[in-house]
Amino acid sequence: MSIKFVGVIGAGVMGVGVAQNLAETSHQVILLDISQQILERAKNEIQKSIRVNRMFKKSEGQESLDLVMKRIELSTDYARLESADFIIENATENWEIKREIYLRIDKICPEYCVFAANTSAIPITRIASVTERAPQVLGIHFMNPVPMKSTVEMIRGYHTSDQAIDLARGLLKQMGKREILVNDSPGFVTNRVLMLTINEAICLIQDRVASAEEVDAIFKDCFGHKMGPLETADLIGLDTILYSIEVLYDSFNDSKYRPCPLLKKMVDAGLHGRKSGQGFYNYK
Ligand code: NAD
Repeated sequence: MSIKFVGVIGAGVMGVGVAQNLAETSHQVILLDISQQILERAKNEIQKSIRVNRMFKKSEGQESLDLVMKRIELSTDYARLESADFIIENATENWEIKREIYLRIDKICPEYCVFAANTSAIPITRIASVTERAPQVLGIHFMNPVPMKSTVEMIRGYHTSDQAIDLARGLLKQMGKREILVNDSPGFVTNRVLMLTINEAICLIQDRVASAEEVDAIFKDCFGHKMGPLETADLIGLDTILYSIEVLYDSFNDSKYRPCPLLKKMVDAGLHGRKSGQGFYNYK
């Protein structure tokens, strides 16, 4: 089956990157969110990102910005997904929100349509269980910023079929990406490790052991990491970090995933990292 039309649900940090990456690789996209205002902001962000990326790339053979943008339809209407071949869902990391979305798209999308959840921690088997098409549900955990990252973590749910995996692999190849396939578990490989690291780094700030700059410098200068855990937290979004750790805490019932109180406080205060202009660092 060839994928002509991809539905991208959620136009936040990840949905914007996924839609851009798809449109730049000649896919027809419908980008869906809950308000026109969010979609307008998403459109501006995609245009800005394409312009910035092009400043660093050769211009030979490049399509016009208009041509790329014409491939992205913006909508708040789920009925527009009635002819989607493939869905990439990037809505807020909240089980109730995602559950409602999967119940809805299962009724609207064609029977052959495959659903890929871009979730940080929610088990793929749980997502698949609310649909009538568990073999066609898998996880594609994209990295941020999506157009710049070459590798994704792909997750096989309990019932995911080889056909769905192959189809997703083909789409990713067209998007210029390769996958590392893992089995299902809350947080998968990436976030079972990364969320604990970030949470503990936030506890260090709370305990006044070191500043954010010092914690990050230790990871970069001593370990050779490209980014420190607090810079990474700001990039991901502190709200998304908190929701992901809460999913791990609820899934494993293990106190090691207890969210740091400072993280909760920062999220309550609206300090969500880069996307809000302030997190551990200031972006204004
Ligand atoms: P975000 O908060 O930036 O965006 C989420 C978007 O979902 C918002 O625009 C919101 O309006 C929209 N949304 C909420 N309910 C919806 C609904 N019913 N229908 C359509 N859209 C709806 O979050 P994000 O960082 O883009 O994360 C999205 C998903 O990707 C989450 O599951 C997250 O865990 C995962 N993820 C995030 C990162 C990251 O670095 N931020 C990386 C990998 C995966």
